[in-house]
Amino acid sequence: MATEETTENTLPSCRCCGGDLGLEHELLPAGTFHTCRRCGSLQQLRTSIPDDRYNDEYLPDVDLEQHWIWSRRYLEWATEELAPGRALEIAPGHCCLLKLLADAGWKVHGVDLCPRSVEWAEKWGLPPGTVELTDFFQWQPPIRWGVPLAERDEAPVTQEYDLVVATHFLEHFSDPRDVIADLAQHVAPGGRLFVHTPNPFMFTGAGWVHVHDVHLTMPSPPALMGMLPVGFARLEAGQFSDDQWMLMERQ
Ligand SMILES: [Zn+2]
Repeated sequence: MATEETTENTLPSCRCCGGDLGLEHELLPAGTFHTCRRCGSLQQLRTSIPDDRYNDEYLPDVDLEQHWIWSRRYLEWATEELAPGRALEIAPGHCCLLKLLADAGWKVHGVDLCPRSVEWAEKWGLPPGTVELTDFFQWQPPIRWGVPLAERDEAPVTQEYDLVVATHFLEHFSDPRDVIADLAQHVAPGGRLFVHTPNPFMFTGAGWVHVHDVHLTMPSPPALMGMLPVGFARLEAGQFSDDQWMLMERQ
């Protein structure tokens, strides 16, 4: 039987900064979360989610007005002073941002795990094929989104975009640093990468809006800034409500 001391000794390092994990929050049924003593990131010890968790029920028809409100903010933060070009959204979900980007003149493409995302794209009148279904979780980084699974080993990244957007995506993976690096591979020179994710500095306990079983790692604002991919400069970073965002540009 594990004593408190041995339990602490066997904790892995923080996946964001390598520091020691500290305070344990048992937030059932979501799971048990730990706060990193060094960077303040919040993470679960488990590194994966059951395959069937992102099923047809995952993108319900609720809070749609909130999705539109947030998507207008994403559009403003991510595209300020940027001429429309080619945009890729990873996990567009309800596809509100894709629709706003398309209306603003962007050529849009989305990849999502959830079948309902395709339906949402159709509902907003986006052309068939705008959203492609991809299983993010059947492949370890480096991910080549848009390349068939069987061909990924050798396939170079050929699709480059002027804007790559991932909102509420990083936290669904055990290692957000790897995910950002993968996203970065799809950004054209001079293009932008925008990520938006929970801010664990706003964590209030079991009732916090971002306490979910599917949220594996939530990097703190300083940890997120430390994940800037090689060859990128940070344009802006901000905190808003219970969330944070970072806008990067490929040099
Ligand atoms: Zn840390």
